[in-house]
Amino acid sequence: MSKWQYTKGLHDLGTGCFAYLQPDGSWGFSNAGLIVDGDQTLLVDTLFDLALTCEMLGQMRAAVPAAKSIGRLVNTHANGDHTFGNQLVAGAEIIASRACAEEMKERPAEELAAMQRNWRQLGEAGAFLHEVMGSKFKWDDVRNTPPTRVFEDELRLKVGDKEVLLKNVGPAHTRGDILVHVPQDRTVFTGDILFVEGHPVLWAGPVDNWVAACDRILAWDAETVVPGHGPITDKRGVQAMKDYLLYIKQEARKRFDAGMPVFAAARDIALDRFAGWGSTQPLDTMQLFGEMGRLRAELKARAAAHAHAPGHQHAD
Ligand SMILES: [Zn+2]
Ligand SMILES: [Zn+2]
Repeated sequence: MSKWQYTKGLHDLGTGCFAYLQPDGSWGFSNAGLIVDGDQTLLVDTLFDLALTCEMLGQMRAAVPAAKSIGRLVNTHANGDHTFGNQLVAGAEIIASRACAEEMKERPAEELAAMQRNWRQLGEAGAFLHEVMGSKFKWDDVRNTPPTRVFEDELRLKVGDKEVLLKNVGPAHTRGDILVHVPQDRTVFTGDILFVEGHPVLWAGPVDNWVAACDRILAWDAETVVPGHGPITDKRGVQAMKDYLLYIKQEARKRFDAGMPVFAAARDIALDRFAGWGSTQPLDTMQLFGEMGRLRAELKARAAAHAHAPGHQHAD
């Protein structure tokens, strides 16, 4: 059993790091974090709407005097369940990867709010959106609040005397996913690079980047790992995610090689030991779609390289 309880609200990790959890971690119910040293704070992600974010900030302010004025916020990635509360951290510097900032610009909150208002006109996709998210969150008062500072590969920050490393490991879950590593506290906030006991969605990919991101966390001296969704874990949670990704990749490859269409393949893959993981869908077809598309591109590239390789050229 984990030493951390999976209950809603702020959890003191005992080192000056805090995790804010939202069970059960399904669609839109994300986690966030707070890194504190002295009178400085760094907020890791906001939540999916203003009421949820307001409630979280209230708990943070009650527990941590320095959180009364949060100077900096980092968005781990562009998805709304990690960014739509940004406007409530008024005046804060908002940090993200450049790819994340670009993705946020393309999918502003206002667009999702419009879809929420008009879901009845949007057919099956609208009904799905309304069922899994639109009926639970309120977006009509969310203003798109983009990052004010971006970086490419990595950024080192100081929170008080504490060093914090922001590492871009995207594209994987999205185009620009950041891991937040606090070496002194042996703590990592993973954003949606880690879903604990939930099936992840691969919006961007490739899977190999995501596996490499897991390897990076596993290589760090880290004891406490706060996922983007689900309970607090340690490296075992990261290893389980990596195993899952490698399993899906291997099973997708087999079906790709056999010429099976994407949706049939998604239905065909047995969930095996991951069957207990919660999700609105047993296996996200988007995920396979991306992976099989990548395999196809890889195959094409290999065929092209083969045709041009020395020894395979015609003498004419
Ligand atoms: Zn999320
Ligand atoms: Zn996400």
